[in-house]
Amino acid sequence: MIAHLINTDVGGRGILRVYLDYRRRCFDFLTKAASKFLENLSRVLIVTGFPIPPAQIPETDGPPGALAVALAVEKLGGRADVLTYPEVREALSEFWNSFVERPRLSRYSLVIAIETPGRSADGRYYSMSGLEVKREVFDGVVLEARRLGIPTIGIGDGGNEAGMGKVRDLVIRYIPHGEKIASVIETDELITSAVSNWGAYGLIAEASLIGAENLLRGFDEVGIVKALAEAGIIDGVTKRAGVSVDGIGMEVHRKIAGLIESIIEQKIKSV
Ligand code: ZN
Ligand code: ZN
Repeated sequence: MIAHLINTDVGGRGILRVYLDYRRRCFDFLTKAASKFLENLSRVLIVTGFPIPPAQIPETDGPPGALAVALAVEKLGGRADVLTYPEVREALSEFWNSFVERPRLSRYSLVIAIETPGRSADGRYYSMSGLEVKREVFDGVVLEARRLGIPTIGIGDGGNEAGMGKVRDLVIRYIPHGEKIASVIETDELITSAVSNWGAYGLIAEASLIGAENLLRGFDEVGIVKALAEAGIIDGVTKRAGVSVDGIGMEVHRKIAGLIESIIEQKIKSV
C-alpha cells in the first residue's frame, strides 16, 4: 500500500511504469529497504542534493526526505550525518546540525542516497531533460561504500539518481531520454517513488510499521521547503525558487505525507 502511494505519478514523468515492473520483479522492495535500514542504524550517512542545469542550483526534492530519515535514525537511537551541497546545508542548519563534507566511509554502518545524481553510461550526469549536471557529485560515496561492503539504499524518482542503476533497463524503456540519462550506479536496496521525498517518507513509514512506532510524527515538511526556498534552492521542474517540489504544490505534499502518517497510525493501532 505505501509503496503504491509513494509512486503515485502526480508529475506524470514515467516512473509509474518503472515502479510497476520493478514491483513485479521485487514485490517487497520497500520492506527489504526498511529492514536493511533498521538493521544498520548505528551510524548512517545520508547523501542528498541534485543540482539542476543550466543554473546548477540544487532542488527542493531530496533534502526534506534526507532530514526526515536523519530524524528517524535519531529517534531510533542511531547517529546520522548528512552530506550535501553548501547552500542546502546552510538552509537546513536550523533543522539539523550534523553535516559532513568529506566523510570517512569506513566509519559508517549504512549509506542512503536520496535524490542525488548517479553517473550515466557515458560517465556524465544528466537532469531529466538531458542537460548536463556540472558540479561536484556524490555518487562516488555509494561506489566506495559498496567496495567496503557497507550496505546501501538508494531513493530516486527519475532514473538519473544514484541507486536507479538497479532498474536501468526499465528507465531506458519507460523514461524520456532514458538511454542518455539512466544511472548505472546501483545500491543494495532501491526505492522508486514519484517524488524522492515521498520515497524517503515511505522508507520511514515501513520502518514505523515494523517497529510499531510512528517515526514521521512532528516532521515539518512545509517549514523545511520554505526554508530551502528562502535560501534560493529551486524547484527541479519549474527551475524557480518557490515553495514547491517537483512542480507540485505543498498542498499535495502535505496530504501525501498526512495520508502516509494516517496509514501508519491506523496499522499500528490495529496490531
Ligand atoms: Zn529525481
Ligand atoms: Zn524529484
